[in-house]
Amino acid sequence: MATIGRRGFILILSSPSGAGKTTLTRAVAGDPAWGLDLSISVTTRQRRPSEIDGRHYNFIDREAFDALRARDDLLEWAEVHGNFYGTPRRPVERVLAEGRDMIFDIDYQGTRQVRGKLSEDVVTIFILPPSMAELRSRLERRAEDSPETIEKRLANARVEIQRWNEYDYVIVNDDLQNAFDALKGILTAERLKRTRRTGLTGFVDGLLTEAEGSG
Ligand code: 5GP
Repeated sequence: MATIGRRGFILILSSPSGAGKTTLTRAVAGDPAWGLDLSISVTTRQRRPSEIDGRHYNFIDREAFDALRARDDLLEWAEVHGNFYGTPRRPVERVLAEGRDMIFDIDYQGTRQVRGKLSEDVVTIFILPPSMAELRSRLERRAEDSPETIEKRLANARVEIQRWNEYDYVIVNDDLQNAFDALKGILTAERLKRTRRTGLTGFVDGLLTEAEGSG
């Protein structure tokens, strides 16, 4: 029997800060059963106390960021809330070449760039908060950002939320478990997509030959 395989894809999650995207991304990437590699971005932002360099981001200075950009080492990059963020190109190319999937936690500007480059191998999900009041209280509860930073992020959230209709799927994160289940459902369906799979023709030919033999 022919072996059925498939091409890998990039799963992009975007949302305003505080909508729970990072928790969701890390929950699904941290579960080996889903076999998803997490893309670790580079950023010029200051590290938060709870963040680990090399795990949440690679924290670099502006000069190093500009050097990566100049060498075309970033698949995409954007300025968000006054800081620079970018996705290193090489790990993505490696994962896709191995027929595996990668999950990205990036903003709408980066999503546009990745879609422009890899169109059919990109699946995009937008996470919405259940309300703006809940978004604010999640940002305040996180208590890792200054009040000014929180206000800046809330103002930005209004801009980001308006990009919802550029995405393939939308999840309203009113309950983390439900949102997680929805995410896993999308992943399962996308992995089964006919157009992404290889070896199906040979597999079906095998089935038909077998049917002839037994018929
Ligand atoms: P935060 O500073 O809260 O970790 O992230 C701020 C925003 O930057 C989030 O919307 C996040 O998705 C986005 N972001 C993080 N990494 C990247 C990246 O590599 N590229 C782009 N375009 N956006 C990113």
